[in-house]
Amino acid sequence: MPASMLIFAPSFAGTALGIGVAVIVGMRRSGPAWRWMVLLGIAVAWWCAGQTFWILADTPDAALRVNQVQYVGVQFAPLLWLLVALAQTGRRRWLRPSRVAPLLVVPLITLAFAFSYRLDQPNWLWSGFHVDAGSLVPRATYGPWFKVFVIHNYALFLAGCVLLGSHYVQSPHYRLQFWVTSVIPALLLGMNVSFVTGYWPSPLDPTPLGFAVGFALLGWALLRHRLLDLRPLGRSIAFDSLGQGVLIVDAQQRIVDLNDAASRLLRRGVATLLGRPLASVLPGLDPDAVSGGQTELALAAHGQVGLRLQVGVAPIRAERGGAAPGLVLTLHDVTRERAAQQTLLDLQRRLEDANRELERVAHTDMLTGLANRRLLLARLEMEFSRARRHGTPLALLLIDLDRFKQVNDTRGHLVGDAVLRTTGAALRELTRPEDIPARYGGEELALLLTDTGADGARTAALRVWQQLRAIEHEDPAAGSTFRVSCCIGVALLDLSDSHANDLIARADAALYAAKAGGRDCVMLSLEGVLEREPPPVIEVAVA
Ligand code: GH3
Ligand code: MG
Ligand code: MG
Repeated sequence: MPASMLIFAPSFAGTALGIGVAVIVGMRRSGPAWRWMVLLGIAVAWWCAGQTFWILADTPDAALRVNQVQYVGVQFAPLLWLLVALAQTGRRRWLRPSRVAPLLVVPLITLAFAFSYRLDQPNWLWSGFHVDAGSLVPRATYGPWFKVFVIHNYALFLAGCVLLGSHYVQSPHYRLQFWVTSVIPALLLGMNVSFVTGYWPSPLDPTPLGFAVGFALLGWALLRHRLLDLRPLGRSIAFDSLGQGVLIVDAQQRIVDLNDAASRLLRRGVATLLGRPLASVLPGLDPDAVSGGQTELALAAHGQVGLRLQVGVAPIRAERGGAAPGLVLTLHDVTRERAAQQTLLDLQRRLEDANRELERVAHTDMLTGLANRRLLLARLEMEFSRARRHGTPLALLLIDLDRFKQVNDTRGHLVGDAVLRTTGAALRELTRPEDIPARYGGEELALLLTDTGADGARTAALRVWQQLRAIEHEDPAAGSTFRVSCCIGVALLDLSDSHANDLIARADAALYAAKAGGRDCVMLSLEGVLEREPPPVIEVAVA
């Protein structure tokens, strides 16, 4: 390629980049800024194509015409760049026609100056066009408005760069995008400054190419690295619409950010909470102790007593290791859950109590408070099998009050009931914890003695007999006391017993024998032989 042809390279490249990226973005149509990107691509291509014709212009008149047309692209490229940045960073309100219109004032005035310009009538924009014999490109000289237009365009362009850069610097996910959006203005400024100061090697202004390269870089970053997607926006919306409260605290444990849910939970505005020490907002929480896990916190929050929060604490990972620069706390209101759980627990406890009471009632004789017949039989069967399995002795005492019918008949049923109650209580007093005193039925009581052989049973039976017959019962109506004697039939577990009923039958037979033998005594059934215990030495007068 001849050296003179190289001068077309930048403008060709810029045009190609502008059109290429516009076509690709237009085909993908993704992200909030794609329409503005397409328009920007056209403006960039327009600007760069104009430069090709600028080189070809060989008269001042041709140079003027080319510059006039080229200025359409030049005017709108920086404005479109800003609009791309506004759309990309979610500032849709700024894209309203009423807000964009003022930004069109300078470009439209510039275009008015450009198109009203006559070669023999210099105006504020241009003072002349020259085609120098030795130079490859024409040259324009400028009026004072040119400075206004340049400053205005740089301001728009830099505003766009700052918007994009500040948007991406916040998120660690967008390091590359931040880098790209920061390098573009540096690149362009570098080229422009070196041209203006005469350091640029070519007589051709590199600004359009710089702008095209910047545009292509942005397009690449947006498309290849999903800058165009809605992630930053989506993240911030998600943060605020999350049902769970989220607090972000710095290394000094001051709140640096929070979402709406956290503000609602803590019943304080976002602005009030920002900058506050975490300890004043969630007193009692030791985030370092909980770090990586979760805990539950009871809060007397702002007029509301008994707010229960489940608090999760996650350390923010440090960029290059070292201490975490902050923490993310998640807040979940569990007040109602806990209250419901507590109610359920209370109900469960009451149900268990009721069940226990029911069981107790089902197994208790209401008059004496002793075990009833059902419980006695159940325990007897249990102890019977246990004793047989372990080869331990077991004794059963059946106690029947003597001539009790008479007590009822002469003193009344209520007195009879009182006698049964007192006798039951006395029987309980007399027994070891492992024994089972019970009301067998009517005025018959029973005592099951575990691990007790013949001697033990005899001693126990005599003691019970003695104590019961010695009780002074009261007869309120008669204003006197009386005693009631009793018979006790005693049977011991025998190797030949196949069922607990065998034991009962023998005790019953012994009791019957005691009654038959004159009452008021203990009758033991020992290996098929009945043994009557004589009355004790101490004579007790029977009423
Ligand atoms: P004995 O045993 O000495 O042969 O004569 P007894 O008069 O005690 O005769 P028996 O054991 O057959 O009588 C049982 C009486 O016990 C009948 C009934 O009136 C009385 N009795 C049974 N249960 C109760 C009770 O719960 N309260 C009262 N007051 N009396 C009861
Ligand atoms: Mg009886
Ligand atoms: Mg009786």
